[in-house]
Amino acid sequence: MSERSHSYRTRAVILRRRNYGDADRILTVYTPSFGKRFFIAKGARKTASRKAGHLELFNHANLLLAQARTWDIITESVTVESYLGLRADLDSISQAAYICELVDAFSGEDDENRPLWELLLLSLRELNAKREGGTLLLRWFELKLLVLMGFQLQLFGCLGCGEELRAVKNYLHFHAGGVYCPVCGQTLKGAEPIAPQVLKILRHLTRVEWPEVRNLQLRQATARSVEDVLQRYLVTVLERRLKSVDFLRRLRLAPVPSAAPAENAAPAPVGQDVDEHPHSPGTGGH
Ligand SMILES: [Zn+2]
Repeated sequence: MSERSHSYRTRAVILRRRNYGDADRILTVYTPSFGKRFFIAKGARKTASRKAGHLELFNHANLLLAQARTWDIITESVTVESYLGLRADLDSISQAAYICELVDAFSGEDDENRPLWELLLLSLRELNAKREGGTLLLRWFELKLLVLMGFQLQLFGCLGCGEELRAVKNYLHFHAGGVYCPVCGQTLKGAEPIAPQVLKILRHLTRVEWPEVRNLQLRQATARSVEDVLQRYLVTVLERRLKSVDFLRRLRLAPVPSAAPAENAAPAPVGQDVDEHPHSPGTGGH
């Protein structure tokens, strides 16, 4: 039989799941050697499915695949890490969903990126460990992701004259992807002031590894500004808003009775499956 040559094994993190037809699921996964791929789990929604438990969102699993024309078929799955700790509360579930959505949004099919795989695992493990610094982890993750995908914000030298930026009010330009000194930025269309403290934190997060970030204490206003800068830059880069960004924002605002009408329509709940019908255009087909 030539069957074996048409099957392969990979580790994978489940980024997204869509119901397909009556019993199947299409999974968007991230893998160490192939980057993003789409797989189908046949019969995964049947209660007796042995595979189903290993294919939860965010799971790190070891999969055996059979090659097929459209989506490779999952024939075997074993959980490597299930991150039960992060599943225990809505904050870490939505943070994990946000991380997975960013990885999905930034990666193309079959675009191998081993450092991104490592970054994804590290982030899920940190959320799972429930240490302090959940939102800082997201900021650090965003900056690392931007670097890995080639969209690093230029935070050290002026984009105009090349002079080293000093600890004064400089100017940020999202479309240019970085910062201008006061001389170059003051009258530049589309440039807006960035406070020295915000620039300092962004630089720090760019330079260090996660253990050095974990215990950083930021003033709330600084943390918000850093978050706003990164979200606006990510949106600029992706040219669209990610639905979980809205979700996180709503979650944070939740205790305050909403005075303003909700922006746009409510996005799909984070961490849940989306229905898809066999005839609707899906991703991953050939
Ligand atoms: Zn300059």
